[in-house]
Amino acid sequence: MSKIKKILVANRGEIALRIMRSAHEMDIKTVAVYSEADRQSLHVRYADEAILIGPPPSAESYLRIDKIIAAAKQSGSDAIHPGYGFLSENELFARRVEEEGLAFIGPSAKSIEIMGSKLAAKAAVAKFNVPLVPGTSEPIDDIGKAKKIAAEIGYPILIKASAGGGGKGMRIVEDGKSFEEQMERAVSEATSAFGDGSVFIEKYITKPRHIEFQIFGDKHGNIVHLFERECSIQRRHQKVVEEAPSSVLTPDIRNAMGTAAINVAKSCGYYNAGTVEFIMDDKLNFYFLEMNTRLQVEHPVTEEITGLDLVQLQIKVAEGERFPFRQDELSIHGHALEIRVYAEDPANNFLPDIGTLKTYTRPQGHGIRVDDGFEQGMDIPFYYDPMIAKLICHADTRDAAIRKMIRAIDEYEITGLETTLGFCRFVMEHEAFRSGNFDTRFVENFFKPEAIKEPGDNEAWISAALAATLLNGKNGSHPEPAARAETSVKWRNRRFEG
Ligand code: ADP
Ligand code: ADP
Ligand code: MG
Repeated sequence: MSKIKKILVANRGEIALRIMRSAHEMDIKTVAVYSEADRQSLHVRYADEAILIGPPPSAESYLRIDKIIAAAKQSGSDAIHPGYGFLSENELFARRVEEEGLAFIGPSAKSIEIMGSKLAAKAAVAKFNVPLVPGTSEPIDDIGKAKKIAAEIGYPILIKASAGGGGKGMRIVEDGKSFEEQMERAVSEATSAFGDGSVFIEKYITKPRHIEFQIFGDKHGNIVHLFERECSIQRRHQKVVEEAPSSVLTPDIRNAMGTAAINVAKSCGYYNAGTVEFIMDDKLNFYFLEMNTRLQVEHPVTEEITGLDLVQLQIKVAEGERFPFRQDELSIHGHALEIRVYAEDPANNFLPDIGTLKTYTRPQGHGIRVDDGFEQGMDIPFYYDPMIAKLICHADTRDAAIRKMIRAIDEYEITGLETTLGFCRFVMEHEAFRSGNFDTRFVENFFKPEAIKEPGDNEAWISAALAATLLNGKNGSHPEPAARAETSVKWRNRRFEG
């Protein structure tokens, strides 16, 4: 295979920029595609060329295979990077890209197809000695039979859409009474959301932790893992805080899970970057959940602890190069945390709160990385995922990374809309998170909106800050407490400023 000279990035926002930056460092030209809602977007400005592909709705732009292929041809691109979301896990797209003689920067269409169905994935990995969550291995068509199986597995159980993703298409059933009703709802939701009503049953793992492994394969049969990411802090089964390494894995468990992850990759002849997700119970038993056949949102924490540029590696693997390291040459350096800054209101069930970034100031300094796609004054469009930015911190130890994250959150200034920043600060300060003793129900168990936004909080903080300032003025002591209180007021009371 030959060197790639021009990459079309079939995505938008922070991930499009992140990919283009690596391409730029490799002297590869970049082509952006954009919808009418993204005319002013940073990814459009950053690219060497930009092509308008349609109206704002994704179905008319970022999901249009024909338009994206036409843009690639028109621009003379020789490769396409799909990013995450949109067409990244669409096997028809991957196949079409290759049929057109372009390089798809990702796995084969066949791997995507197998892992795109949670049931097909389970069937493939079962032959490779990978532990699976107890449950059904076929789509359910007989409710009576399914209810019997559910009783055998033991409640609570989870009904899952085989084609599901992004935390959607899942229902927890607590007992047999509501089984039929939940089942009907699950099938109709799966049909309308994914065009495929196949559902199956899994045991609901209690006190579950979500731990995933980054894997990487080349086209010469080499597959390694780049360690784990802990992603248990979630809302709506979707991640908000991620870290690497996980504070619960011993070297032995890491080894066992890493080997299982590599086996999952082998089961579908995988190459390029992928993520194998596991669910872990409170006794540290782990079970395969699914494989995401793309670059993951939270890949930066892996980059921080390994020092590798995953996008650069993806491009090289697509060019046919061998993965440059053996497993025993890879190791973990320090600790990394990522928070997802969403335009959402944690006080209102994390519902999207889109609008204009009235003020937008990024944190800076040692060990801080911000991957975003916006600038002050820009609108967060209503059509797409409401993620504004990913804030990533790296330090020698977990504790130091947490302190750095709190400092960075305090420096981050966003007004004009509600964000998850205050919630993430709450997580960083919470004893359960600090101790490492938490699971995916963290939000349900510990989070109350009052914790970050109490009525009267405003006055309380301002008077505390004032008192501290006056006190400091009088006795000439260190002014730090006042300054810190004031910074906190900024994010705690964005609503009152906007
Ligand atoms: P990650 O596992 O990388 O954290 P997420 O589950 O948060 O990824 O999903 C990444 C992006 O892809 C999100 O924008 C999400 O909405 C989207 N996504 C993932 N799977 C699907 C799917 N099956 N259908 C539609 N969107 C999806
Ligand atoms: P998606 O394709 O939407 O990402 P996953 O199967 O990866 O679906 O599950 C998403 C999240 O749902 C997990 O991170 C976890 O929090 C929860 N979950 C999934 N399966 C189980 C299970 N069997 N028991 C407990 N929680 C689960
Ligand atoms: Mg998942």
